[in-house]
Amino acid sequence: METERVKCLIIGSGPAGYTAAIYAGRANLAPVLYEGLQPGGQLTTTTDVENFPGYPEGISGPQLMDDLRKQAARFGADLRFGVATAADLSKAPYRITIDDEKVVEADSLIIATGATAKYLGLEDEKKYAGIGVSACATCDGFFYRKKVVAVVGGGDTACEEATYLASLASKVYLIVRKPYLRASQIMQERVLNNEKIEVLFEHNAVGLYGEGGVEGVHLVKRMGQPDEERYDKAIDGFFLAIGHQPNSDIFKPYLQTDETGYIQTEAGTPRTNVPGVFAAGDVADPHYRQAITAAASGCKAAIEAERYLLAQGLK
Ligand code: NDP
Repeated sequence: METERVKCLIIGSGPAGYTAAIYAGRANLAPVLYEGLQPGGQLTTTTDVENFPGYPEGISGPQLMDDLRKQAARFGADLRFGVATAADLSKAPYRITIDDEKVVEADSLIIATGATAKYLGLEDEKKYAGIGVSACATCDGFFYRKKVVAVVGGGDTACEEATYLASLASKVYLIVRKPYLRASQIMQERVLNNEKIEVLFEHNAVGLYGEGGVEGVHLVKRMGQPDEERYDKAIDGFFLAIGHQPNSDIFKPYLQTDETGYIQTEAGTPRTNVPGVFAAGDVADPHYRQAITAAASGCKAAIEAERYLLAQGLK
């Protein structure tokens, strides 16, 4: 298989990956970045980003990512299409297989592969993506001021998103498939004591409807039971909060992860348990999941990579 040696390999093209590439490029590490399945990452699926500092009027997600990409290219980052399909981190240089056809040997590695929001798998989620369907209340909640929204899920994320949305929207339905919430007690109390939030226990969302945007959700109560009920509810926005899956599978044999698969790093740093391998952005962050926090950790990862290479005499 074709093999190439690089000083600094970055996998992933969200805010963490591109920011790491900007810093690594400026540090003369000649970074090579593979963009993955979805160049630009999760932000390319949102419309306006209004909370990234520096854009008082907001910026579209795809535009922001395109700007970050150009900025990385300007400092010499070698940006390539390709997906990391296998990894061997048992010893340095670390071996990453790209598209099952080429191996890149990396003196330092920055993993910025992100996390993928889980969806229910409804056709309508795709149909209304970006026009009423979202998997991020912090990103998109603002567009639903004084409107009616639904949140799907019964965990901490769903309760947090429902509570956040209730501060903006006029009404929030929380669609929970079980007769109870899985969230922590304190989050449950916040939801149950919020008069704007109505919890629909034992409900499943099975479809959406609307002309040019979401106008309502098709619901089934006690699905599959003899007393099953089907009805529709008018809503303007449909938020998924049924969990995220970090894209860490190929690294798991070598890196410490939590039970969901988030890569664990040394507190406050992007350092993993393998020297010279750093994790940045959502693949290592179950808590904040924001573009700006991802960008910040990408910056830290590049600085760490430079220091590591210097210490190893590889720069
Ligand atoms: P969880 O896995 O905890 O919860 C997922 C929720 O989505 C569950 O209620 C689950 O239902 C529901 N769900 C999953 N699939 C479907 C489906 N197909 N249809 C309908 N409902 C579905 O994920 P979270 O993202 O909420 O939390 C992940 C981790 O992060 C947890 O450990 C959580 O505690 C932590 N966290 C902590 C926060 C905090 O402390 N402030 C904030 C956010 C997250 P069911 O219960 O039936 O399986």
